[in-house]
Amino acid sequence: MTTLSGIGVGRGVAVGPVRRMADPLPEPPTTPSTLGPDAEKERVTHALAATAEDILARAKKAGGKAGEVLEAQALMVDDPTLRTDIDTRIDKGATAERAVYDAFAVFIDMLKGLGEYMQGRVADLQDLSQRSVARLLGVPVPAVPDSDEPFVLVARDLAPADTALLDITRVLAIVTAEGSKSTHTAILAGEKGIPAVVGMPEAADIPDGATVIVDAGAGQVEVDPGPDAVAAAEKRIAERATRAQTTGPGALADGTAVPLLANLGSAKGVEAAVEAGAEGVGLFRTEFLFLDASSAPSVEAQKAAYSAVLAGFPGKKVVVRALDAGADKPLAFLNDAEEENPALGLRGIRSLRASEPILRDQLTALAQAQDENDADVWVMAPMVATVDETRYFTDLAKELGLKTAGVMIEVPAAALLADRILAVADFASIGTNDLTQYTMAADRMLGSVASFQDPWHPAVLKLVGEIGTAGTSLGKPVGVCGEAAADPKLAVVLVGLGVTTLSMSAPAIADVRDELARWTLAGARDAAGKALAAEDAAGARASVEALTPA
Ligand code: PEP
Ligand code: MG
Repeated sequence: MTTLSGIGVGRGVAVGPVRRMADPLPEPPTTPSTLGPDAEKERVTHALAATAEDILARAKKAGGKAGEVLEAQALMVDDPTLRTDIDTRIDKGATAERAVYDAFAVFIDMLKGLGEYMQGRVADLQDLSQRSVARLLGVPVPAVPDSDEPFVLVARDLAPADTALLDITRVLAIVTAEGSKSTHTAILAGEKGIPAVVGMPEAADIPDGATVIVDAGAGQVEVDPGPDAVAAAEKRIAERATRAQTTGPGALADGTAVPLLANLGSAKGVEAAVEAGAEGVGLFRTEFLFLDASSAPSVEAQKAAYSAVLAGFPGKKVVVRALDAGADKPLAFLNDAEEENPALGLRGIRSLRASEPILRDQLTALAQAQDENDADVWVMAPMVATVDETRYFTDLAKELGLKTAGVMIEVPAAALLADRILAVADFASIGTNDLTQYTMAADRMLGSVASFQDPWHPAVLKLVGEIGTAGTSLGKPVGVCGEAAADPKLAVVLVGLGVTTLSMSAPAIADVRDELARWTLAGARDAAGKALAAEDAAGARASVEALTPA
């Protein structure tokens, strides 16, 4: 048995035989065209139109969020800059297939340099290039293999066009050599609840037909496992399936309520969140709505977008985050200046404060949506570092009609002064993704320092403890809405540190609910103490895993 490690998406486990997806097509030859420019351009027009048509048909079949991702992808073939580049290459003597291949390659290279969010689009473009070139060459498009038996799909990378249409009754799990947590493949796999391990270069060597165990929570793939390992994995799968049936509010074994909330990027996630039993929304990432906008959205458009989410949670809490622009999520209308270290730059509340009219518009739109809906709207500022920023934001939010205003604590300075911050704010929500990045001084987008990005690190937990203690003594709610909340054992530790609510992606809720129900508050505090006393993240995790829930 060999154990391989990558980046896990979701927490599911799967066992099954591998079906490999064909590797990409070879480069088309560079031999000059014998057909002439007009005929080659005509071939391009047909191939691109057929590719778009094919993807739109898949979009229709997929529907929902997946369908929208595909529609956006289909639009890319109509890009006039791309077409001009193709035609110029043909005018210089290239064949249609070579010109299409080279023109896409230029776009792909450009996007590769633009940060991780843009890199998600690289797979989309590679897919379009492959589909178009395959058509021009008259060969099959590398696609998801057909199989009547359920299988684990192993690929170099998966395009959204393929991921969106995966049949979840057949595809048990996905393993890819490339990719990260924020590619469309990972997002769509997460949405479908398909366990995945991405960014694992050794995936290229897993043979077709081999049996594998995919453990997304651990980010591991076991190749050729023995019968005991298979039996243990099957037991875990059955247990998860039973757990997924449980509903009801989050609570500890002694009845202490720990509301479980959902993280959303738009109204499209509302249904899945409600189905998973989310008791409200703990993080609505509003900037996700406007990543492609070149100018600031109107108050009207924002009000409609916010209302669409609020309407899904009558009587429930919805925590809306003001635009968190900057670093890996730049918004053209808020912060498009080049910065040497954008994660340390004019981002979050800093960029909103520098463009106050945009912040005022957002808060106005949200206050209007609040007044027209029954949800309990809370608003919070991202990336707050100081008490002054806290006062600025909460005063403005109240002035514009919002009833409950707080801050995200993602910067160690804010965590260390949580008592003073919470004396001003109505609540705090801890963004453990950024809090970990800043505490460990390790860029969360950078694979080479990914091992530092572990919220189990006692240094991070110590800061969470500062915030929890401040919240408890001031009687102010403290939530966690970073990925840490989705890790069941870590969720217990967070509660032990004084956190009062947990927010996560909808598919993670069942596992966290189940784990919390095994622990009393005293047990969770004990687990927190053990984790805090460890030397490092691995030690903290191991010391909590060694405990029997109490
Ligand atoms: C975080 O930093 O933990 C967080 C929830 O915000 P985001 O991941 O959007 O930066
Ligand atoms: Mg953050």
